[in-house]
Amino acid sequence: MVHIIDGNEIAATIKNDLKPKIDALNDLGIVPGLATVLMSDDPASNTYVSMKQRDCKELGMNALDIVLDPSSPAKDLYSAIEGLNSNQQVHGYLVQMPLPNQINEKDVVSHIDPLKDVDGFHPENVGLLVSGNPRYKPCTPHGIQKLLESIEVDPSGKDVVVVGRSNIVGKPMANLLIQKSIGGNATVTICHSRTSDLKKKTLAADIIIAAVGVPELIDGTMVSDGAIIIDVGVNRVDDNSDKGYHLVGDVEFNSVSKKAAAITPVPGGVGPMTRAMLMYNTVQAASLQADITL
Ligand code: NDP
Repeated sequence: MVHIIDGNEIAATIKNDLKPKIDALNDLGIVPGLATVLMSDDPASNTYVSMKQRDCKELGMNALDIVLDPSSPAKDLYSAIEGLNSNQQVHGYLVQMPLPNQINEKDVVSHIDPLKDVDGFHPENVGLLVSGNPRYKPCTPHGIQKLLESIEVDPSGKDVVVVGRSNIVGKPMANLLIQKSIGGNATVTICHSRTSDLKKKTLAADIIIAAVGVPELIDGTMVSDGAIIIDVGVNRVDDNSDKGYHLVGDVEFNSVSKKAAAITPVPGGVGPMTRAMLMYNTVQAASLQADITL
């Protein structure tokens, strides 16, 4: 019987475990604060930002919501970033991607104070991760490590196939899995759009992590019996419902769940974990900036 991994439940545990740390910071007069910068009309980006704001409020953390018109010049965004870098109430912040065409995303990330870069995307934080000494682990890959830990799947010695090589999911996921530390020690194959014979690779995997953005790319014929399947994809598929769409992952749930030992659903798998780890990183940022070990 396949285990459907409940990301909402595991995320709730992680957020509960943060509460005593937040209380300890409060006792020292510190309220962890997260800011979000939104420069997009995209409904999905708007939803993500409002969910992050809601998570902060739920945990009694400060939340600052900066919204810029998508047609604003780059200088407006840089001036918001400078303000956040010097704002003592803000311990961490993120600029919601994707950004409009007039903005260079890589340049934006490199202007974020690395100590406030709770997404872990600044080159300094990427370097620390790659060299085996991560400061802030990127939220989605870290959330996936926590999911695996919670179902007692140790990647050590396992063959893991990560499908996708983006800077926000695929690459940091692979980097975390090869760390010489708990939750690491896996043998990782990274696949992408130029990979030949993807099926051959996925069939050989103990664990498949799909972060592609192609609806239901991985089907039951591509998965071996007893594999662990982590579906990162969030794809809107148009339908006739009131909303006009429904969400599907990068994995064809029905066929794959017949073979897998465990699988994350979409929604309710990886998504809530990403948000929980953002809260985790923000609390970590507040303690780092106050030079406190929690
Ligand atoms: P990107 O578009 O940045 O990267 C997609 C990757 O998939 C690329 O490396 C691309 O290869 C690869 N790819 C595309 N088509 C294929 C294919 N047919 N076969 C093999 N590889 C392929 O996406 P992200 O990493 O940002 O996001 C991936 C998905 O995860 C999206 O659906 C996104 O919405 C979702 N997501 C969900 C999160 C969550 O918290 N649940 C968080 C972040 C993302 P190449 O490099 O060659 O182009």
